[in-house]
Amino acid sequence: MEKNNAYQNAIEQLEKVAKIIKLKESTVARLSKHDRVLEVNIPVVMDDGTTKVFTGYRAQHCNARGPYKGGLRYAPQVDLNEVKALSVWMTWKCAVTGIPYGGAKGGITVDPTKLSIGEIERLSRGYIRAVADLIGPDIDVPAPDMNTNSQIMAWMIDEYSKIKGSWQPATITAKPIELGGSQGRTEATGLGGVFILNELSKLQGLSPKDTEIAVQGFGNVGSHFARLAYEKGFKIVAISDINGGIYDRKGIDVNKLIKHIYEDKKIITEFAKEKEVDNKSLLELPVSVLVPAAIENVITKDNADSINAKYIIEMANGPVTPEADYILADKGILSVPDVLANSGGVTVSYFEWVQNRQGYYWSKEEVEKQLQGLMVKAFNEAHQSTKSLGTDMRMGTYALSVKKVADALELRGI
Ligand code: NAD
Repeated sequence: MEKNNAYQNAIEQLEKVAKIIKLKESTVARLSKHDRVLEVNIPVVMDDGTTKVFTGYRAQHCNARGPYKGGLRYAPQVDLNEVKALSVWMTWKCAVTGIPYGGAKGGITVDPTKLSIGEIERLSRGYIRAVADLIGPDIDVPAPDMNTNSQIMAWMIDEYSKIKGSWQPATITAKPIELGGSQGRTEATGLGGVFILNELSKLQGLSPKDTEIAVQGFGNVGSHFARLAYEKGFKIVAISDINGGIYDRKGIDVNKLIKHIYEDKKIITEFAKEKEVDNKSLLELPVSVLVPAAIENVITKDNADSINAKYIIEMANGPVTPEADYILADKGILSVPDVLANSGGVTVSYFEWVQNRQGYYWSKEEVEKQLQGLMVKAFNEAHQSTKSLGTDMRMGTYALSVKKVADALELRGI
């Protein structure tokens, strides 16, 4: 999606599904707008004694089904348009697996690689002071996103609890386990994607050992997805990250690659392989399943026609543009949309919120069992909806989730 029209794309998708499910005009008008958007300016004392002011945002789209929920990203390109678009997608994502939240998203326009740890801590605490009145366990529950992590969540929950005068763990999720984080949260998005891969395989009669998979991105999502799929016997033939990629038709030993990159600190292209591939040609490999798990907008109208995979599982947010969607559908490629495929992360964040409120903590096995139940149910409902509406899986999934939100609005009489 082009940077400046991500929000417009989100609204176009809503209008497209609204026609399919015959949504009332007033509901479309309501869901095209946000409940609230906030811009904050945060002064931070830098290590050299000067003060810099950073701009941050929080967009709260719709809370008809429960408190707002969504991550916080730190990146130079963060702006209001981006967080507004991402918060709309969060509304649909929470509805897909049926977790009781609405959509939100936030962020700060900053390149965190240019800040020291102390500067990031002061910035993160400043952001929480600026938005404290608008978040809380029953209001809006932030979490990490691009370039934020459990340490940043720890500083944020500490700052929020100080403001409130009591420990408030259920206000922020994906915290460290020591501070009330959930077992299984780190790998939850990748694991959720593998549950989707399993269901897709059953539906399409794919046998894991003959199913060749290419994964773009080897960070949190891509590495856990690739490892867990590999451990289930799927054949991972290509993997890339920002430094390039590798292709091997015999299959890549993903555990060894994780050690190579994360323990031995070597770059991906130094790993034993049949040949190197760049990020562009990885997308065009003749594999069974293509898994974009890095960044948005990698499949566009310019390369959609060159995609040779039979299936796409969108683990990144927004990897396929709306124009490319039409081309992929014409080619008969089945794409499992991001709002379904990568919903494992927010689902385990929901489990964390439940555990924080109960003060009772689940085992990793319990977390994984509950996640599997919700992901399998969501996939099968989305597939049924796609079949009965005779549309593609993105619209089939949207039909389901947008209807849940619209029904909640209708029942509440908003
Ligand atoms: P990450 O920062 O841990 O990893 C990103 C990976 O992509 C890295 O391997 C990086 O080298 C690679 N990469 C970066 N730029 C690239 C480029 N231009 N070309 C190819 N590879 C590139 O991030 P993550 O948490 O794994 O998130 C990946 C995607 O999944 C994002 O779209 C994110 O919004 C989405 N997502 C993440 C979660 C989660 O729980 N982490 C949940 C839902 C969706």
